[in-house]
Amino acid sequence: MSLMDSPLYRDAVAQLEKSASIMGLDPNIMERLKYPKRALQVAVPIRLDDGTVKTFQGYRVQHNMTLGPGKGGIRFHPKVDLSETAGLAMLMTFKCALVGLPLGGAKGGISVDPTTLSRQELQGLTRRYTTEINMMVGPTIDVPAPDIGTDGQTMAWFMDTYSQLKGYTVPGVVTGKPITVGGSLGRAEATGKGVAFCVNFAAKKMGMKIGKSTTVAIHGFGKVAIPAAQDLRDQGAKIVAISDVSGAVYNKDGIDVAKAIEWTRSGKHLKDMDGIEKITNDQLLTLDVDILIPAAIDGVITKDNAPNVKAKMIAEGANGPLTKEAIEILSEKGAFIIPDILCNAGGVIVSYFEWVQGLQNFFWDLGQINSKLHDILRDAFDNVYEASQEYKVDMKKAAFIAAFRRLERAMRYRGLFPG
Ligand code: NAD
Repeated sequence: MSLMDSPLYRDAVAQLEKSASIMGLDPNIMERLKYPKRALQVAVPIRLDDGTVKTFQGYRVQHNMTLGPGKGGIRFHPKVDLSETAGLAMLMTFKCALVGLPLGGAKGGISVDPTTLSRQELQGLTRRYTTEINMMVGPTIDVPAPDIGTDGQTMAWFMDTYSQLKGYTVPGVVTGKPITVGGSLGRAEATGKGVAFCVNFAAKKMGMKIGKSTTVAIHGFGKVAIPAAQDLRDQGAKIVAISDVSGAVYNKDGIDVAKAIEWTRSGKHLKDMDGIEKITNDQLLTLDVDILIPAAIDGVITKDNAPNVKAKMIAEGANGPLTKEAIEILSEKGAFIIPDILCNAGGVIVSYFEWVQGLQNFFWDLGQINSKLHDILRDAFDNVYEASQEYKVDMKKAAFIAAFRRLERAMRYRGLFPG
């Protein structure tokens, strides 16, 4: 597969072209944004526990670095390929630009099912991958983070390997590290907290007051969904439905969120929770609620079920939970959609804070982190909302327009080397 040949890459370019034509983006800027700046494919051979050697394919792609060093996760998943990685890198360029970070867009990954490897094999894989892409990363060059199939432990191995190669500790080379090796307070909850902030900004625009009469359904109950549920519950909202891969649970008077968290964290499925009504994931998506937060996987609301979605506000906690057609249908119906590149940007914002803290070796308290996260998201939300009013487009297109405006200005100022 060529660099720009996957459905995800083509979809990212289509979104770029659509919003660019609405706002009249400079065609010369558009021409540059369509192509990733740099892509690397590496062989990652490791010795398995049985003594044999197996080679995996790894990638790192930097899409655009006008605003600063590359930023984007490392994904360990069997479906990872060069072009999907390039498409995800492009979306990171737009996300970082949208929320005003001094960072560009990048992404990386290895085509591997990490659940089939032992801890030792995973460590070997991560360390060899780090060595192979070493020339492309660094605190001032490109700063990876966890993504699907990777976590804080992966980042700790990455940081350690990079530091071994340098001869000194370099905490700023990756984010999403455990706190004891330079991670940031608030990073783990940042995405979900950001979702809850965005829900509040949207409610204000809609004249909706978040309180005990507000009903919320959340699709998924993982790293993004749980902190969002906790924050909205703490504001008094009723979380009437939540779900996981096994199914959904429903209580019209509000689910006991703390009990559900304990249940989930003990490794149990929600479908097995006792004393609560069970519904399907599909039923959850079409409940008559004020706020729907799809925070599990992509493509769950399509042209088929969108006409039945009743929520007044839909906050895209996951990446791409609404298809293009679903966004059109729901926007027509008057639903307020908070687009993913804004709604789930809390994670990359606190990753940015972690990078800054790592560079200066001075760490902030949680209050500072959450208040800065709030202010950055509020400004980004206002920019998107203004763009949606100015161009009379849905918030999804407006988010791209707001991102392109910033990129266009920066790319014009910096110009085209060598001229
Ligand atoms: P997670 O693995 O912690 O949680 C996912 C949840 O979705 C789980 O409850 C799982 O059971 C459920 N789920 C999985 N497949 C499902 C299905 N087919 N139907 C219904 N539920 C299903 O993942 P996460 O980190 O919370 O990520 C969720 C989404 O948010 C993904 O799209 C991810 O790319 C996106 N996202 C995550 C972050 C982050 O910081 N974690 C940042 C930005 C975007």
